[in-house]
Amino acid sequence: MSEPSTPFEKAVRYASVSDVGMRRKNNQDSKNLLVSSDEEFWKKRGHLFVVADGMGAHAAGELASKLATDSIPHVYSKDLEKDPITALHHAVITANTTIYQRGQAESEFTGMGTTCSTLLLLPEGAVIAHVGDSRIYRLRKGQFEQLTFDHSLVWEMEAAGKLSGSDTDLHFPKNIITRSLGPSPKVQIDIEGPFPISPGDIFLLCSDGLSGQVSDLEMGAILSSLPPAEAAQLLVDLANLRGGPDNITVVIAQVDHPPVAQTDNGSVEESPPKSRLNIIVLLAFLLIAAVCFALERMQLLENLYLAAIAGIGAVVTAIVTLLQHFEKSATETVPATAPQPLGRGPYRTYACNPTQETVDNFSGISAELRKSVEQIGTEVDWPKFDEYVGDANLSAQKGEFTDSTYHHCQGISFLVAALKSNKESLLASDSHIDLI
Ligand code: CA
Repeated sequence: MSEPSTPFEKAVRYASVSDVGMRRKNNQDSKNLLVSSDEEFWKKRGHLFVVADGMGAHAAGELASKLATDSIPHVYSKDLEKDPITALHHAVITANTTIYQRGQAESEFTGMGTTCSTLLLLPEGAVIAHVGDSRIYRLRKGQFEQLTFDHSLVWEMEAAGKLSGSDTDLHFPKNIITRSLGPSPKVQIDIEGPFPISPGDIFLLCSDGLSGQVSDLEMGAILSSLPPAEAAQLLVDLANLRGGPDNITVVIAQVDHPPVAQTDNGSVEESPPKSRLNIIVLLAFLLIAAVCFALERMQLLENLYLAAIAGIGAVVTAIVTLLQHFEKSATETVPATAPQPLGRGPYRTYACNPTQETVDNFSGISAELRKSVEQIGTEVDWPKFDEYVGDANLSAQKGEFTDSTYHHCQGISFLVAALKSNKESLLASDSHIDLI
């Protein structure tokens, strides 16, 4: 990831990690980021982030996800004739065709497929194109929302009313997906949004290697407490500490200063309404004129000078209002209201501001990890680790749960870094750390 250098790159902080996990030989996940560096491109194409999770024997899954994440940004950025949403849809269709045709051409790739979740941050809001069970979330002011629908057997059956929430946890495998790019010549793509963007919004894209191991509440708490780069690494570490049975991919985009500010309901913020003020002045002039006429009729006023002045004032105000209206119509390039949203997201919403319960959860992870690391015999600077725990406890006592979560996360990351630097002892012990 290179350092952002233009205001349009700096408007968003982003980080990404893709990890093979603890059990697989290959990483079949793939990711790509296309961040606009100049105003013209930002206005036309925004910033694009994509995650794909490939499926298929041997190298097929790897190839399918790579074809998706290479082809979508490329096709989307070249297709400047179309509006961004149409261009994104077209780019995903093209990726499906490319993967399908490659699968047909070579027997070792037959039937290969991939999930694909793409996020566009545009001046008019966030737009998503999505197929499969990778996910896109948004964190805003303590609310963590899943903006995408899982195209999995469990979610489809639940949506059809054939499963209740408790059934889904107990009886059905979660990794059967009902839609993907590549296996068929045609694919149905979910388009979601535009969702309004506010400064401080954090978007998370991930493969099921993360969402299968780390709960939505934990993801929300980590995003609330840590900056993107630290959060991305910790999320991956946590999935690995819990066994890392699958490949894990995380992309985080935090909007700091959107070039177009938007309100919560998706409309673009307007400057104070001049026309309303003009109408008030106009009505005041008309009222004065009417009162003068009335007074003159009642012979309480000798002449109509004041009424004439008020009348002229009213006419001038009316002309100014009309001119301002036409000037505004001619120069306005951003619509006052966002386009009608597509899709039905968000599909799930969680309150995730760190609480005492969050702190207890991360404190428990930290303590269990400590125990496991001690058993393995990894060398660790324990006084340093104890400092993190001490800071976390102090913050919790003051009721500063976000800070406390942050310090516990720092401690966890510190132990994971120690484990990684002493990987040989970990491998020799043939143990992985399964945290609950
Ligand atoms: Ca996966």
